[in-house]
Amino acid sequence: MASAVSPDYRGARRRLVAQLRAGGITDEAVLKAVEESPRHLFVPTGVGHRAYVDSSLSIGSGQTISQPSVHARYLQLLELRGSERVLEIGTGSGYQTLLLSKLAAQAFSVERAAPLLEGARDVLRTCGVRNVTFQLGDGTIGWREFAPYDAILVSAAAPSIPQPLLDQLAVGGKLLIPLGERDEQMLTMVTRLPEHFERRDIIPVRFVPLLGTHGWTSP
Ligand code: SAH
Repeated sequence: MASAVSPDYRGARRRLVAQLRAGGITDEAVLKAVEESPRHLFVPTGVGHRAYVDSSLSIGSGQTISQPSVHARYLQLLELRGSERVLEIGTGSGYQTLLLSKLAAQAFSVERAAPLLEGARDVLRTCGVRNVTFQLGDGTIGWREFAPYDAILVSAAAPSIPQPLLDQLAVGGKLLIPLGERDEQMLTMVTRLPEHFERRDIIPVRFVPLLGTHGWTSP
């Protein structure tokens, strides 16, 4: 039972799910994952009460946890069925990583900021997650060891698509990446077909920059 000392925010989570549904999220697996995931554990201490409002929040190291509706939209686009291997670039808080652990068979997540990676690793351990493998490093080069991936999600914005990510996508796989300028981008979905890559613009978005060899070179 919820107490004043340690609220479990179940009601707030249900309200958030209703809001996502009203906003066009129809994938029941995604909605269930959101309903089961304690987002308040992924935001800084003291703002737990704001975790189920549909907004982004600062998580330290100059980074932000994205809005729940953005995560839900991303995940719905991937149409995961539970058997996939997915690569996430930009672990950040680890909240989306938790959602992925529930929606796919195995998730691999790369983050360049050590304090964020450690925080995410700890919370996911607390949540009992066992199908996620983390790496500290530059995600613009992907993670060759476990490729190919059925889905690749990039949670930071790039000037162009990093070639290694295309190379590491399985045939039939989908890559989601915000592409464009530093202050405004287009969420882009690339599907790998047997002979070519198909590219589709989804919606305008604003993400923090993807920094690295195949991303932006300075913060
Ligand atoms: N989905 C995360 C988003 C965090 S913000 C969340 O909602 O919490 C984007 C993250 O991408 C930041 O943590 C940033 O440090 C990370 N990042 C930026 N460039 C990167 C790179 N080349 N490789 C790995 N992570 C990167």
